[in-house]
Amino acid sequence: MTTIAFIGLGNMGAPMAINLQKAGHDVRAFDLSKDAVAKVVAEGCAAAFSAQDAVQGAKVIVTMLPASQHVEGLFLGKDGAPGLLSAMEPGTLVIDSSTIAAATSQKVAKAADAAGIDFIDAPVSGGTGGAIAGTLTFMVGGTASQLERAKPYLEKMGANIFHAGAVGAGQTAKICNNMLLGILMAGTSEAIALGVANGLDPKVLSEIMRRSSGGNWALEKYNPFPGVHENAPASKGYAGGFGTDLMLKDLGLAQENAIAVKASTPLGGMARAIYAQHSIAGNGLLDFSSVIQALSAKN
Ligand code: NAD
Repeated sequence: MTTIAFIGLGNMGAPMAINLQKAGHDVRAFDLSKDAVAKVVAEGCAAAFSAQDAVQGAKVIVTMLPASQHVEGLFLGKDGAPGLLSAMEPGTLVIDSSTIAAATSQKVAKAADAAGIDFIDAPVSGGTGGAIAGTLTFMVGGTASQLERAKPYLEKMGANIFHAGAVGAGQTAKICNNMLLGILMAGTSEAIALGVANGLDPKVLSEIMRRSSGGNWALEKYNPFPGVHENAPASKGYAGGFGTDLMLKDLGLAQENAIAVKASTPLGGMARAIYAQHSIAGNGLLDFSSVIQALSAKN
């Protein structure tokens, strides 16, 4: 049994923390939202009163935060307040599963290394369903020995663990994947909306495309049309799941990266613009599959 500090208990972090607790570890959980902490305490985790409190005596720290600024602020400090690295023992292992800029992972890892702390980036794919089922895919950036240290914990939260390369490489793999996911969800939405505007049944059309050359993850597990997949966010008012603003962040990271390496990513750029308009229209907190609303004919 290991004492694990888990920081960031949102749609993804809460089920991941619960899976570590159920695996027999002693999870000390912290989130800025008291309600988020209460949910995982109900499942056996211990409540921490601050991030500093959570890491006291913890050998492993897992973070699942929204964006780069949250991870950098937490570990390196902000507004003159010291970061969490200064409160941690040398030898601690940090697994950051947030999706953030690779450059931020590298910056935090460098500071961690100077303090004798192992920091790896381990962003995930698989959605909230994968987080609950413990079947996430982890894309890890770090050394082989750091990955070996992290594996026993990653295996309790995920089914597939990939070593993408040095620190930051997990983030690069993740934004490539999510750029493709953003494009696929927008394209799938566009196709379903076109069929429905022509009077087709969304369930029948989705099944035809799922078993045809247009088949993809959205059609398999995460249909954007309400009522096609009972457990998808679309069938729950687009609540929970993966927020439009988080997808927008990832598409922005992909574009920033593309500019830096002079890559041509026109479809990623177009997808970013579509999700940005959807967010500006007031849908930023809805699941990203709600983008179908922006792509549906209004008669
Ligand atoms: P979320 O918004 O549901 O949860 C984030 C949580 O972090 C919130 O509860 C918030 O209160 C907390 N938080 C923010 N700053 C904090 C701080 N300084 N200290 C403590 N808690 C803090 O987000 P999510 O959907 O769980 O996503 C988390 C990360 O995982 C994001 O980077 C996202 O891009 C990535 N991700 C999400 C999904 C998904 O399907 N939701 C899938 C893969 C990856």
